[in-house]
Amino acid sequence: MATSFTSFCEELHGQVNELHLWLASCSNFDIPFRLTKVTLSEPLRSPPVVVREISQSRYFTDNYCPAYRESSAPPPCDGPPVRYVRHTARRDGHSGDEPDDCQACGAELASLLCTDLRVGGTAGPSTGSTAVSPEPLRYRDVLVVSCNTLTDDVTDVTGKVVRPASGFVRGLRQGGVPVLVVRSDDVRAIAEMAVMEGDDDVVVADRSVVAGLERPVVVLVRGSVMDCDLFNDERFDIMSRCTSQLVWVKTGRP
Ligand SMILES: [Zn+2]
Repeated sequence: MATSFTSFCEELHGQVNELHLWLASCSNFDIPFRLTKVTLSEPLRSPPVVVREISQSRYFTDNYCPAYRESSAPPPCDGPPVRYVRHTARRDGHSGDEPDDCQACGAELASLLCTDLRVGGTAGPSTGSTAVSPEPLRYRDVLVVSCNTLTDDVTDVTGKVVRPASGFVRGLRQGGVPVLVVRSDDVRAIAEMAVMEGDDDVVVADRSVVAGLERPVVVLVRGSVMDCDLFNDERFDIMSRCTSQLVWVKTGRP
């Protein structure tokens, strides 16, 4: 923690009587004077299968934050297995070195979401007098986050597309999935995304704006070349948003 912030806390204590100051951080740091440190490391959001993936982040392996501990209330199941979409430049219509601009990757994800996970479907008939068919996932229950930035169509004043969306986004739409691309500078869209307002769309967002969010289905789009390799922190920043089904779009063969 920055020395300046420590000084700020100490000065605040000196000027405000009976100050009750709480701080929260996800990393280890030297706590400011007068504060008591409490470590909360029980996984509450993600099922075990996702926690195991998150735990491979260098934030944990290099002790930048405390390791998860055993849950005090063992979860009832491991959670659904991680699903994969594989991008290889020369396979079945895939193109480019990375999945970000690959229309085939987007279309494969659309198929996985709509067919396998029944996202956007309708509830089936109940099978008995007491059985209740589970509600299908909505599109807004899905959060797609790329380590690189995915962009939407850019249009001119007449509405003509002057720069098309990233291939991955085009592929999702081609597969029938409604998509909202949230730019990192669009404060209103970020606020609506946080409180689940707006249309029922799959949200494609930059990793910088998903902190604090959680969704049942999280899709990590990870190429082979990107700026987040140093700490593998896409596990820490993106996978940790997932409460149930993790989908990983990645380069390379199975
Ligand atoms: Zn691809």
